Amino acid sequence: MPELPEVEGVVESLRPFVIDQTIEEVEVSKQLLVSHEAGKAAIIKGCSPEELIRELPGYRITALTRKSKYMYFALQRKNEEALLVGHLGMTGAWFPVETEEAIQEDKFRKHIHVKLRLSGGYWLIYSDIRRFGELRLLQQEADYPPLLQMAPEPFTEEGRQHYLSMSEIAKYRNKPVKGFIMDGHVLSGCGNIYATEALFRMKIHPNRKVARISKSRLNALYDTIVDVLNEGIARGGSSISDYRNVNGGAGSMQHFLQMYGKKMCSTCLTETKQLIIAGRTSTYCPKCQR
Ligand SMILES: [Zn+2]
Repeated sequence: MPELPEVEGVVESLRPFVIDQTIEEVEVSKQLLVSHEAGKAAIIKGCSPEELIRELPGYRITALTRKSKYMYFALQRKNEEALLVGHLGMTGAWFPVETEEAIQEDKFRKHIHVKLRLSGGYWLIYSDIRRFGELRLLQQEADYPPLLQMAPEPFTEEGRQHYLSMSEIAKYRNKPVKGFIMDGHVLSGCGNIYATEALFRMKIHPNRKVARISKSRLNALYDTIVDVLNEGIARGGSSISDYRNVNGGAGSMQHFLQMYGKKMCSTCLTETKQLIIAGRTSTYCPKCQR
């Protein structure tokens, strides 16, 4: 599943292809049309595929930014402003290409769901194998309240203060620290891979209760999470399973992971253990992490 560094990589590499481009035409796959008719509304959320096809053309993309794991395409048409918000779900990928055939891997080419024809003469194609991704056309961010409820960006002082104040709230104090740092209301964009790595570096057991970690260690844990996220961004993300950047390529962070998906601890060579915390598999070293 793409996490914050992967989404940042997608946004940065996509930006030169989309800024100042006008959307001229929209195509939606037959599967999405069928899913909407059946009331399942895959990928396109908050409106029908027909509305997206009708509403998007004419808008110019003025900015592309990331907030947590969401992608924000800022749109403008004369005096009208709108926002196209994307989420990659588990297997979403964007490709700026002249033709569908330019998408190298079959599995992505076979699961094209939304195509935007841009004024520069190419297509911005959204492919999603498992269809857990999202695309939402909004007048403004507040039209979809969960966007406003996310914790501030982790790279800001505001993000740190928010995280520390959440650690004092009763409902979080009795939670395992792994679930705490992966909660989007506490910290923005720290998913399973980066949470697993940060806890290993800090030698903190993923099941340790937040209340049993001192404030200074919680502070140090925050620094470590930011370090791990920054390393992930610098390495183009980690390419676990089906994440791809816009060039169809893969990042290299997976080669630098020390605990996520490992059978043995790289420090003490003990066999790792696994626990399910907050619905996700947590891998840890029973000897190094306490
Ligand atoms: Zn160990």
